[in-house]
Amino acid sequence: MRIILLGPPGSGKGTLGEKLEGSTGFPRISTGDILRQAVREGTTLGKQAAAIMAKGELVSDEIVTGLVRERIARPDCRRGYILDGYPRTMAQAEALERLDGDRAEVVLALEVKDETVVARLGGRRVCGACASIFNVVGRAADQIGECDDCGGPLQQRLDDSEAVVRERLRVYKEATAPLAGYYKARSTYRTIDGEGHPEDVFRRASAVLDTERKAAGDRKAR
Ligand code: ADP
Ligand code: ZN
Repeated sequence: MRIILLGPPGSGKGTLGEKLEGSTGFPRISTGDILRQAVREGTTLGKQAAAIMAKGELVSDEIVTGLVRERIARPDCRRGYILDGYPRTMAQAEALERLDGDRAEVVLALEVKDETVVARLGGRRVCGACASIFNVVGRAADQIGECDDCGGPLQQRLDDSEAVVRERLRVYKEATAPLAGYYKARSTYRTIDGEGHPEDVFRRASAVLDTERKAAGDRKAR
């Protein structure tokens, strides 16, 4: 089983993906996290990707598909995996089909209002030590300095500045939004209301996922 999380930047793919990793035991594969780690480590890949990511543009299909190919070949992906941030273009969707086409698949498309995206990304902070995701919206000032999980320093992602967020939304609408049509036609495609508290979004997604996993099991049994 493969779970593909679709949705604009700020729709909560990362937060939901972490929770689903806990409930399903499938590893969450975030191409954004892999790329950010490469940037931090200063690898050749990181050097290539840094400037592109800082502008809110997309890293090349070849590079990200190479990362995913290598990652899903590892043994912990045998039962299943969760994709967060890949595929992001039609070419990547087709490449994934070639890499691992036979697997049962559920696409969960998170739906949120544009104003929610802008508010969430503006308030998003990421722990510099453990990469936990937080949001300063609605939190008191004395709680926003450090990570609840490990006490590490909370930082704003470089690409969460207002101008870059606008560019990421533009790129999403142009390159990624068309994937909805692709997956509606050929896969199990379910929309999830992404508004509200992360726990509520997780509950909605889990209910949908349970139904779809049972249906996939029944199809296999027949
Ligand atoms: P978000 O979904 O919040 O925009 P991500 O962490 O998924 O953030 O991605 C951050 C950046 O990493 C993107 O803006 C892009 O530059 C790059 N990136 C991540 N995944 C891909 C991908 N599948 N294809 C191309 N670029 C990617
Ligand atoms: Zn932390």
